[in-house]
Amino acid sequence: MVSTVLIWIGVAVAALYVGWPLLQARRGAETDDSDALPLERQKREALAASKEAEFDRAMGKLSDEDFAQITRRYRDQALAAMAALDKAGAAHGGASKLAFCPQCGTQLAARANFCGSCGHALRPKAA
Ligand SMILES: [Zn+2]
Repeated sequence: MVSTVLIWIGVAVAALYVGWPLLQARRGAETDDSDALPLERQKREALAASKEAEFDRAMGKLSDEDFAQITRRYRDQALAAMAALDKAGAAHGGASKLAFCPQCGTQLAARANFCGSCGHALRPKAA
């Protein structure tokens, strides 16, 4: 069926259209911070990507459901990177206690439980 093929081509083009800027942004971040720590970079990229998703939702390119799924994934990534950074900091005498809000990117006070800017809860129940 020719029409089915055309629909799939349309879907592929739409996916590229949505995915390409994300890909570019990620690549740009990588070249920008080539000297940064990988974890620091992972955290920043996850934050940037989740902001990008926010923008896409505002533009109507993402459904609320997709947006929730994407931001949850990136937030997990950011939190994982932050946890690893925390651990690395502790290994170096606990000097590095600074963190950034996974929701809005604001720098946080040491051992903060909530973001002072957006009120996002920072510690999972386990911690
Ligand atoms: Zn925040």
